[in-house]
Amino acid sequence: MPDANHPICVALSLGNIPALGHKTAMTNTNPLPPNDWPELQAGWVWLCGAGPGDPGLLTLHALNALRQADVIIYDALVDSRILDWARTDANLIYAGKRGGKPSAKQRDISLQLVELAKAGKRVLRLKGGDPFVFGRGGEEAQTLVQHGIPIRIIPGISAGIGGLAYAGIPVTHRDVNQSVTFITGHDQSGATPSALNWQAISQGSQVLVIYMGMKHITPITDALLKAGRPDDEPVAVVTQATTPDQKVLETTLGSLVTDLEQSDMSPPAIICVGRSVKMRQVLDWQAMIAGEKPRDLDPLGRGKPAEAT
Ligand code: SAH
Repeated sequence: MPDANHPICVALSLGNIPALGHKTAMTNTNPLPPNDWPELQAGWVWLCGAGPGDPGLLTLHALNALRQADVIIYDALVDSRILDWARTDANLIYAGKRGGKPSAKQRDISLQLVELAKAGKRVLRLKGGDPFVFGRGGEEAQTLVQHGIPIRIIPGISAGIGGLAYAGIPVTHRDVNQSVTFITGHDQSGATPSALNWQAISQGSQVLVIYMGMKHITPITDALLKAGRPDDEPVAVVTQATTPDQKVLETTLGSLVTDLEQSDMSPPAIICVGRSVKMRQVLDWQAMIAGEKPRDLDPLGRGKPAEAT
């Protein structure tokens, strides 16, 4: 096992290269940049965010963890290209909870982590986005601590921030919002979160970022309209954000449900409600890379340079 602090740089002769797997090459020949990298020790669990999809959005701490773990328990939303960076001999265990595939119970996952750590494994728990943003990472971490297992938390880029950025939508923008509210579209029972005060949310936050909102989009939209959000308020739905399959629907609150029904968009999706969605007209950088011109250089109608007060 290469020491993470001093990765072994294998000297390759050209003749050896075809025989070596891609993963081995990644693990052994590309040292992490110099830093005091922590060592994942036997009996520890590191709870780590894998970002929203694009492997380049992984943190270096996450990469350091991938290169050391004996066992990796990963969720459905972890991009498979990231798992390619694990050790070739790592045991990869799927613990996803998405439609179609058999679902692992949250409690079972946590107890499996406890068992693996107690068996002396170096365990990496890899979750999509950030482990503490609607990922039940807090509960898993708490269970581990309750069982005396030492942990480390590695934050990740959450889909509600990074995913929107990939769609050219700044989650805060000075002219638009001084606060942002992250909302989950499900509660523990799978229903629209009844604990949410939609009236207060609607009045209190200019920009709403909704995770897991697709299933209950109709009651969520109704609640927002009823609470006074205008039906011409801009909305963006970003599916598979940051992956090659990313799609973006731009609409308004009043047309959201119909437009979604007529689209072929399916979860995972981030839904952004608020005027910051308009900024996509000038900041859709992926379209610009593809050669398109910005649609509107001043989508908020400031009439003066972006940074003039
Ligand atoms: N911990 C994750 C969120 C887990 S909840 C994070 O910080 O991003 C799962 C929800 O996250 C999905 O239903 C969806 O709303 C959102 N999500 C995660 N990855 C996404 C992606 N690549 N594109 C769009 N939405 C995503």
